[in-house]
This record gives sequence, C-alpha cells and structure tokens, in this order.
Amino acid sequence: MARVLVGVKRVIDYAVKVRVKPDKTGVVTQGVKHSMNPFDEIAVEEAVKMKEKKLATEVIAVSVGPAQSAEVIRTAMAMGADRGVHVDVPQAEYELLQPIHISKILAKLALDEKADLVILGKQAIDDDANQTAQMTAAVLDWPQGTFCNKIEKTDAGLTITREIDGGLETIKTKIPAVLSADLRLNTPRYATLPNIMKAKKKPLKKVTAKDLGVDTTPRIDVISVEDPPVRQAGATVADVDALVAKLKEGGHI
Ligand code: AMP
Repeated sequence: MARVLVGVKRVIDYAVKVRVKPDKTGVVTQGVKHSMNPFDEIAVEEAVKMKEKKLATEVIAVSVGPAQSAEVIRTAMAMGADRGVHVDVPQAEYELLQPIHISKILAKLALDEKADLVILGKQAIDDDANQTAQMTAAVLDWPQGTFCNKIEKTDAGLTITREIDGGLETIKTKIPAVLSADLRLNTPRYATLPNIMKAKKKPLKKVTAKDLGVDTTPRIDVISVEDPPVRQAGATVADVDALVAKLKEGGHI
C-alpha cells in the first residue's frame, strides 16, 4: 500500500457552546475556537500507524476550507502526516459547500495523488452529515468500510471490523478503498512540541476547487438556522406514587 489520503476538517471546537447568528443565516464562527474534527484525529492516527508499521509509505492530509483550514493540516503533520493539500475555498463559499462537493474534491485528489486508501472521520461534528466517506467511495467507485473499529491489512486487501447498531460486523475489502473512522478505532496521539516545529517545514500545497475541476455551485438553500426549542424545567417528585400520579395527569400513561 503506498499512499493514504486523510480528510481533516476544521470545525468549531467540541467544547464550545455554538451560537446561532442573530440573522439566522448560520452559526457564529468569528472569534470562536476551532480545531480538527475529533474523528479526523482518529483517521490521522490510523494512517500514521499504518506508516509506522510499514503498511503505508506516505500519509497526505487534506483539508477543504478557508485559509485557517491550513492550521488543521499542520496539526495532522505534527501527528505524523508527511505532507498536506489545502483546497482553499473562501469562507462565504465554504459555508454553502455540502458533502457531495467535498467528496468530489477528495475523489479527484485521491486519483491525482494515486492514493490506495482514503481515511475520513465517520462524521464532522459541525454538520453531523455522515455522508462524505460514502459519497467519496461512490464517486470513485471504490469499496467502502464505514464506522471502522479495527483495520487489518491482509494479502488480499483489508479486514475491517465495523461498529453497527447490533454490535460489531467484520467485512473484507479490496484496495483501493474509502474508510471512515469510528470512535474506538484508536486513541489519537498528542502532537509534541518538537513535532509541531517539524511540521512547519513539511510541504503544504494550496489548490482551489477550480484547479481540480470541481463545480462547487450550491445545491441547497439554507432557509433558516435556529436554536433547538428550550427544554422546559423538570420537577422533583417525592415518591413513586407521586411520579405515577404526575404521569397520569400529563396523559403519559
Ligand atoms: P461529514 O460527511 O460532513 O459528516 O464528514 C465526514 C468526514 O469527511 C469528516 O470527518 C472528514 O474526514 C471529511 N470531511 C468533511 N468535510 C471536510 C473538509 N471540509 N475538509 C476535509 N475533510 C472533510
């Protein structure tokens, strides 16, 4: 296996309380802490481990987004990725990009870079779409292994253990393939200071969607982004009888 392409998305940090913009066109991103999508850290870790086990020769981190997206590529390189590709999309245009656009971009890069494996996160924690890996596989017409819990290289390709509703499922797939990382695949390493310094010198190429020949015209209109309804306060009841009475009163039982 030669190259592994890893998708790293810059998202609002998981610990930040997301706020809707007053004009309801989206969420507030300015001045808000961003980081690499947590599932993408797992994807990077898996790719770097493959390189350490000599199952892969090169790990390329790709991020699509505005200028700041280069930051998460640097983080991926500090974790061990060899080089990066930043697909530069201005903020206003980026806000309208959908998983299908990202998938077409990743698919084109996978072919251009002659990747044998594309590893993505199972979902981005901002849009929660869980579509990009599946669509990238479809665009490439490659097999897919989603929600990976374990990835093993075999002579014929890969044996993948997937997290499914009922437990774990094991499948075999040929290479090239597109995989998506689930939470328990591994524990991502921290980028150490020396590696952060080294990452600054690793190659980072900048391209545009146009350079890749991908049409990023939006396919949907966002009508309105709104906060979820405020949950009503609960009440404490003295005992089970009072609870049952309350439930009856509310017509729940
Ligand atoms: P989603 O389908 O949006 O939930 O995203 C699933 C995965 O696709 C993410 O965890 C990333 O690995 C990859 N991905 C999505 N958007 C981007 C992006 N803008 N740049 C790089 N990778 C992305």
